[in-house]
Amino acid sequence: MAYNLVVLVKQVPDTKRITGDAMRDDGTVNRSALPAIFNPEDLHALEAALALRERYGGRVTVLTMGPPHACEVLRQSLERGADEVVLLTDRRAAASDTLATSYILACAVRTCAAAKPVDMVLCGRQAIDGDTAQVPPQTAEKLGWPQVTYVDLVEEVADGRIRARRSTGTGWERVECPLPCLLTVTDQAPEPRPASARRLMAVKRARSRAELAMEVAAAMPDAAPEACAAEVETRAAALQARGLLITQWTLDDIKADLAWCGRDGSPTKVKRIQSVVLKGTAFRKVEANEAEIAAMVHELIADHTIG
Ligand SMILES: Cc1cc2nc3c(=O)[nH]c(=O)nc-3n(C[C@H](O)[C@H](O)[C@H](O)COP(=O)(O)OP(=O)(O)OC[C@H]3O[C@@H](n4cnc5c(N)ncnc54)[C@H](O)[C@@H]3O)c2cc1C
Repeated sequence: MAYNLVVLVKQVPDTKRITGDAMRDDGTVNRSALPAIFNPEDLHALEAALALRERYGGRVTVLTMGPPHACEVLRQSLERGADEVVLLTDRRAAASDTLATSYILACAVRTCAAAKPVDMVLCGRQAIDGDTAQVPPQTAEKLGWPQVTYVDLVEEVADGRIRARRSTGTGWERVECPLPCLLTVTDQAPEPRPASARRLMAVKRARSRAELAMEVAAAMPDAAPEACAAEVETRAAALQARGLLITQWTLDDIKADLAWCGRDGSPTKVKRIQSVVLKGTAFRKVEANEAEIAAMVHELIADHTIG
């Protein structure tokens, strides 16, 4: 039995490398100061999907919603073995909160399913920028599918059911659920495979139409818009012939209701942003005995750190 798998991945700023110029004076993130990377847990989700395809057969489609440069994570997905990648890009999706993002991603999964029923959607547990871990559960809810979160091992898929091991923080649970379903995968799942050098060479020229438009604009700065559009089509046709044109969708392609997308579809309103810089001060060693721990807890309650 072969399975049709969709992996949702996000390109994120590398928040481990936050330096002095990573925040602007107004408190927003200066994304250009941080390298953009594949969200780490999404690599584990991709690995889980590739391993399932190796074991049972099927197809792995990787989908991201983001600006044209998010194609970089799609190329990396192809290098690691994805069969197909899709860039969902649309200015009307900008400023989507988790509700709007999950609505758009659910519409995109339904669009994939219209071509061939989807058996499983695999996501990372959490993105390292927004950090909410809400998008996958909300996407499952909108699809009306069961979900298994915090998966670190997919044990078996058989008879229309999946058996997976999920971490509870203090141990593990073995969960069975019917297909189609959505999984969120943690960084405790099997290590992502490296890119294949052969595939890397084969897909390094893969581009979406949005990227081609930027390349053409840079190469032909004085050309008329019609000439640029024609050049984009020429380059897109050449890539398509070699299987290197990255599929690109807009909100219209996935039949999304615009009232549920972008700023209009996002009930989250940011009232204030504050930069908090935590500075280490003196540290005190507390012995692991009843008396010292009780004294520390009393002290923390007294200065309102806890309680
Ligand atoms: C600093 C910061 C704070 C934010 N705070 C909030 C907030 O409080 N409330 C709120 O509603 N929104 C918030 N947002 C917006 C939120 O980041 C976006 O809605 C975002 O599109 C998804 O949320 P997330 O990054 O928390 O993803 P998570 O829910 O943490 O992502 C989990 C997984 O979902 C999948 N996924 C997530 N986004 C995409 C995508 N674009 N394409 C494909 N797959 C995806 C990936 O598999 C990912 O690993 C915040 C954003 C930032 C940068």
